[in-house]
Amino acid sequence: GSVLEIKDLHVSIEDKEILKGVNLTIKSGEFHAVMGPNGTGKSTLASAIMGHPKYEVTSGSITLDGEDVLEMEVDERARAGLFLAMQYPSEISGVTNSDFLRSSINARREEGDEIPLMKFIKEMDEAMDFLEMDKNMAQRYLNEGFSGGEKKRNEILQLLMMKAEIGILDEIDSGLDIDALKVVAKGINRLRDENFGCLIITHYQRLLNYIEPDFVHVMMQGRVVKSGGSELSKRLEAEGYDWIKQELNIED
Ligand code: ADP
Ligand code: MG
Ligand code: MG
Repeated sequence: GSVLEIKDLHVSIEDKEILKGVNLTIKSGEFHAVMGPNGTGKSTLASAIMGHPKYEVTSGSITLDGEDVLEMEVDERARAGLFLAMQYPSEISGVTNSDFLRSSINARREEGDEIPLMKFIKEMDEAMDFLEMDKNMAQRYLNEGFSGGEKKRNEILQLLMMKAEIGILDEIDSGLDIDALKVVAKGINRLRDENFGCLIITHYQRLLNYIEPDFVHVMMQGRVVKSGGSELSKRLEAEGYDWIKQELNIED
């Protein structure tokens, strides 16, 4: 198994401090949800874990199995077993979805141990069926003209095939209709075993009706201010965030 440890993480964007000491530990086998009002730094946390150049880590640490993630290039982070689905995945012109996926898988394998083409095609076919995806999605250029729902499904396809140890899923549910939401949840639930852990970042409880998290964390003003089990997300759905603000004396 793997452990992603985030300790006292401070992150600034253009000299403005957004994350003010985030602590989180995610082990493979565990599903964590991070919830919180808009603008509290949830996506900043995902971007910092991914190594987005705009987000400056000013102090604290991120380690994966004791290795310093902050010292790794973005592609090294993926090779180390981190999978990051971004809220706004970018388009890559001229690279088919299938080619991108196969080279991403091979980047995680030893040289000379590349996935055999037929095995790859068989696995991709099966995963696309499972996610109820149109087969022509495989040959389209990555994210070019993909609808919001297609992008999300495609991220789950990547997640299913990449064999990542820790997944960071930022608003994987945003803009999805209920059927697409169920398919996305089905894909994530399929990965539930001792080899895979994830951090599911969401503004709404909705997704968590289909993916039961083991731990729920609430972020406010750049910190994790409360953690609990799945009952916490249910209370947030029913009552919003005000009671936490009152409990912790947080002002808007
Ligand atoms: P959340 O995902 O919780 O809604 P974000 O992490 O996106 O919050 O944003 C946290 C704060 O950082 C907000 O005040 C937002 O305006 C600011 N912020 C995020 N990204 C950028 C950016 N690229 N440039 C400037 N400010 C940003
Ligand atoms: Mg490991
Ligand atoms: Mg966000």
